[in-house]
Amino acid sequence: MNLRDVMSFAAGQWIGPGEGARSIASAITGEVIATAGNDALDVQAMLGYARDVGGPGLRKLTFHDRARILKALALYLKDHRQTLYDLSFDTGATQSDHMIDVDGGIGTMLVFASKGRREMPDARVYLDGPVEQLGRHGQFVGRHIATPLQGVAVHINAFNFPVWGMLEKLAPTLLAGVPAIVKPATATCYVTEACVRLMLDSGLLPEGAVQLVSGGLGDMLDHLDCQDAVSFTGSADTALKLRANPRLLERSVRFTAEQDSLNASILGPDATPGTPEFDLFVKEVQREMTAKAGQKCTAIRRIMVPQPQVDAVISALSERLAKTAIGDPRLETSRMGALVSNAQKRDVLEKANVIAQEADRVFGDPMDFTVQGADRDKGAFLPPMLFHCADPDGAQRLHDTEAFGPVSTIMGYRDLDHATRLLNRGKGSLVASVITNDPEVATEITMGAAAFHGRLYFNNRASMKEATGHGSPLPHMVHGGPGRAGGGEELGGIRGVMHYMQRTAIQGSPDVLTAITGQWVPGANENQNAAHPFTRPFGALNIGDTLNAGPREITLEDIETFAQFTGDTFYAHMDEDAAAANPFFPGRVAHGYLLLSFAAGMFVQPDPGPVLANTGLDNLRFMAPVQPGDSINVRLTVKAKTPRNEDYGEVRWHVTLTNQDDEAVAEYELLTMNAF
Ligand code: NAP
Repeated sequence: MNLRDVMSFAAGQWIGPGEGARSIASAITGEVIATAGNDALDVQAMLGYARDVGGPGLRKLTFHDRARILKALALYLKDHRQTLYDLSFDTGATQSDHMIDVDGGIGTMLVFASKGRREMPDARVYLDGPVEQLGRHGQFVGRHIATPLQGVAVHINAFNFPVWGMLEKLAPTLLAGVPAIVKPATATCYVTEACVRLMLDSGLLPEGAVQLVSGGLGDMLDHLDCQDAVSFTGSADTALKLRANPRLLERSVRFTAEQDSLNASILGPDATPGTPEFDLFVKEVQREMTAKAGQKCTAIRRIMVPQPQVDAVISALSERLAKTAIGDPRLETSRMGALVSNAQKRDVLEKANVIAQEADRVFGDPMDFTVQGADRDKGAFLPPMLFHCADPDGAQRLHDTEAFGPVSTIMGYRDLDHATRLLNRGKGSLVASVITNDPEVATEITMGAAAFHGRLYFNNRASMKEATGHGSPLPHMVHGGPGRAGGGEELGGIRGVMHYMQRTAIQGSPDVLTAITGQWVPGANENQNAAHPFTRPFGALNIGDTLNAGPREITLEDIETFAQFTGDTFYAHMDEDAAAANPFFPGRVAHGYLLLSFAAGMFVQPDPGPVLANTGLDNLRFMAPVQPGDSINVRLTVKAKTPRNEDYGEVRWHVTLTNQDDEAVAEYELLTMNAF
């Protein structure tokens, strides 16, 4: 059989294995199928290429440009995913495992592409939070911005998700505008290599944006600096070794770790046999134990059930586990494939022996199980193994031993307080799930255990049809956890992009902040343009363009007409004495919505033109009452512009209503869609 040479992509060149290369075996047959690694890899040249070519190219683009690249890349990978599926079988993964890894990775990229367009500006500076007024008269203001790090992101990934593991880090990194060097785990790097090849072949990536190290990383970490970042996923032992690198400490290089954890699932006290929640619990636990042959960082390692339900859960779970066909992952009938390697299998068996010192094995015998379509003893196959621990309080190793395979331990709890204490003995986990139809159970566990977890997942009869599963990290939600789980955080929507950007507090005059942020700040220059802004297409509107309109007097008749027309006859508008008795009003006042409607009547340009629609209104505040006899003026200023597609874009207008004394009575942001 021909050995596959797994290459690295370094400083624009593909480089094959050389001195120091390691061999990689098939999970199914145990035979060597590939080699990877080359001690001669010039890591300094790679860092230089990323910093000098990749970074500047990416930073020239806006967030929207980069989001468009992500979308195109994801669609390209989707079209070519069969290549990745075909290769992945040798890692022991089944077709449904590929859906988690390959399709899950592509889906994550698509979510970042869409969030980048919707939640980030079409600009190169990200705005974090509102303008803060720092001086009394509004001429000294502050705002937080974020700009891309000017170095390189080094991504070190675990073996279990060769595609998702890369893409979930790459998407936020590229969206931020930072180049990446990806170092997959050697055991499955041939799948990652194929995915990187596809991305490079697509021609969509700017030069230097992505490089790949197949095999060892050499001394790359010793050359990192303050603008670089390391994102690590893997075991706690490796994380500890890497985060202690003196160079990383000396240069304050960002280091994020996603490591192993002792995730748990709790069956709520209400979820007795016969309820939909009981069945749901058994199903979720079985799925988490067997998907990816239990090699998921989020897999359920500890199963906590009310003491009286222990036997019922063991029996229902064993029944389901017994139906899990184990075998060659290429066979459609195989529900569980192999572990990644025989070394991994040995490690899982060792850890299972540790657990066995505190718990009894109640399902699954590693010496006696059936494998379809493959040689049980040559491939890295194991059956699902369920343990029962009768004394979870006295147990020690059970709460800190991660057998990274299809192994889980069931334990009984007395009450919710007990369950929460057992949960937290994981000393920080990625996720805990609670299957309950009682919101009070959910609330109590949240207050007791949220601080120990990166994610809490609740499921019941209402959510079960749509729920995404205990073990699925979602791009919208934070993935990571405190303590044992590494103390890191990834994903979580735009939060995940921030790991690769520097937040900077900007202070200065409104004009300076407007120039830097590309958004008009109250107090900055207003451009009075002769042509009405509603007559000018999207491209002809400038930040700061302003229209002043008014005055318009508000009469008692206006208020009464509005009240009768809308039915809003609230006493503050209709009853002088009752209104005056209210601490907010001097007497009868105009409806706030009347003022907004009059304001629209004052600033609108009625003819068909570039304004296509009014799509909303944000941050509305009524600041002072308007009484009959007062008159109002309106000021409309272009605050921000965001292209939405080829034909139109969103204009955000800052609107202020003032009275005859120039006192602000209402303020809001108006949104319109304007044609290009
Ligand atoms: P690992 O042995 O810790 O390896 C993780 C990565 O670190 C691999 O790419 C490995 O490369 C690399 N590495 C090891 N020593 C290194 C060194 N001295 N310098 C630079 N890189 C080094 O973990 P694994 O066996 O691949 O993955 C299984 C573990 O990952 C489990 O414990 C699991 O819980 C955890 N995990 C966590 C998450 C999460 O999101 N929290 C996700 C998946 C997995 P080589 O392969 O070349 O040695």
